[in-house]
Amino acid sequence: MSDHFDLIVLGAGSGGLAAAKRAASYGARVAIVEGDRVGGTCVIRGCVPKKLLVYGSAYKHLLADAASYGWSMGEVRHDAGTLLANVRAEVDRLNQLHIGLLEKAGVELVRGWGHFLDSRSVAVTATPATLRDQSSESDPAPGSPPRILRGERILIAVGGRPTRPLIQGAEHCWVSDDLFLLESLPERVVIVGAGFIACEFACILNGLGVQVTQLVRGDHLLRGFDLEAAHAVQEGMEAGGIDIRFAHSPAQIAGEPGALVVTTQSGEQIACGGVLLATGRHPYLEPLHLDAAGVATDNGRRIPVDRNQATNVPHIYAVGDATDVINLTPVAVDEGRAFADSVYGGKPRQVNHDLVASAVFSQPELATVGLSEEEAIARCGPEGLRVHRARFRPMAQALPARGPRVLLKLVVEAATDRVLGVQMVGEHAAEIIQMAAIAIGMGATKADFDRTMALHPSVSEEFVTMAN
Ligand code: FAD
Repeated sequence: MSDHFDLIVLGAGSGGLAAAKRAASYGARVAIVEGDRVGGTCVIRGCVPKKLLVYGSAYKHLLADAASYGWSMGEVRHDAGTLLANVRAEVDRLNQLHIGLLEKAGVELVRGWGHFLDSRSVAVTATPATLRDQSSESDPAPGSPPRILRGERILIAVGGRPTRPLIQGAEHCWVSDDLFLLESLPERVVIVGAGFIACEFACILNGLGVQVTQLVRGDHLLRGFDLEAAHAVQEGMEAGGIDIRFAHSPAQIAGEPGALVVTTQSGEQIACGGVLLATGRHPYLEPLHLDAAGVATDNGRRIPVDRNQATNVPHIYAVGDATDVINLTPVAVDEGRAFADSVYGGKPRQVNHDLVASAVFSQPELATVGLSEEEAIARCGPEGLRVHRARFRPMAQALPARGPRVLLKLVVEAATDRVLGVQMVGEHAAEIIQMAAIAIGMGATKADFDRTMALHPSVSEEFVTMAN
């Protein structure tokens, strides 16, 4: 079977779905190829189920504070199985919703894994190409010959996969994808990693009553984020009961699922019910046979693109995590839409990758837009900056007299008074920073913040009342 399309999209995740629907809305004939579940990382095994688990785990802290507000409850119990099942049901609903939206948009969904035969042809097979004989175009599954698609243009939106480090026994461990498939949670879990996924799952599991030990190779969490903000998150996580061990790496994991022993490089042994490896992600490029299409990569690690999302082959484009520029859902979505607007809609535009706000949904939550203090020092020098900060226990924690202190921080360029970066650690940080991002994008100065009337009593009023 052979089919011709104006556009073939490889991958029905955040970037692919956005591009396919937008291109179809301009009248393009579009096929989208998906080997796993429609929705991609964000919907199926990322942002959405993770945030639902964050909401679920946050009740622990609310319940702990409730008595100081006069609430008395009998024995409070949590059934992780119910939460995990409910999250999966919501993911199923969203998966169906996205399939329906593709249908409504007139995009043809082609089930299977795509790989290039040449720069305009894609074979779709039942398993990813790297799992089969790479030189073969035929599918091993009996009775299911590959479908061959031809496209005027092809968009690569295949996203990324968790990296499994080369540690003895790593095959016994979970990666983040696996956590969403669990039916219950063990009593004790070891998490390996210091990035946002490691920290978020440490807090989720801790909130759901699991004893968490986090092994961190370096000396701080959340590399790449503002150091002071990362320390504030660490302080809150440790106060919440998470055992974070810096300068610790696993050397070996032994045992069987449910009863594992992690041996660290210093020889310490930690028995646990599960190990989560959260040590990074990489674009899922191997099965694409990019060589067949002549698409260049950075040593197989990522697909470089120009500002129009074009690869070195002019009619092949790439968006999202496959390009490894900024691995966030809204960025993948905007790149997909910008591509479609430019190529099919006659409205050329390029994505602005500056000032992308982001959050870590740890407990306490961290959110940021613009430069960290370290990045600002690198740009302006320490003398070229003013840093304004407020660090205090929020009113919500006054009666419980416990809980993490919030951090609010403005990084300001001394010469221009312009706010280069805003950092917040505390409740609703993501919601607050999303709004601050508008002001920063408009070039707000510290004087603009100062001129803004406070909204009282709130946490974020401190952003507009910070002393000069
Ligand atoms: P994906 O969404 O990964 O979609 C790629 C799709 O392509 C997948 O469905 C895959 O099955 C399919 N595919 C791959 N190869 C082929 C092939 N050869 N043929 C056919 N189909 C193929 N971002 C945020 O903005 N906020 C968050 O809070 C957040 N939390 C996250 C939490 C976790 C645990 C993880 C793992 C990620 C999180 N992210 C978050 C990142 C976000 O999910 C990704 O940046 C985003 O999904 C990238 O979109 P994409 O379209 O590039 O790829």
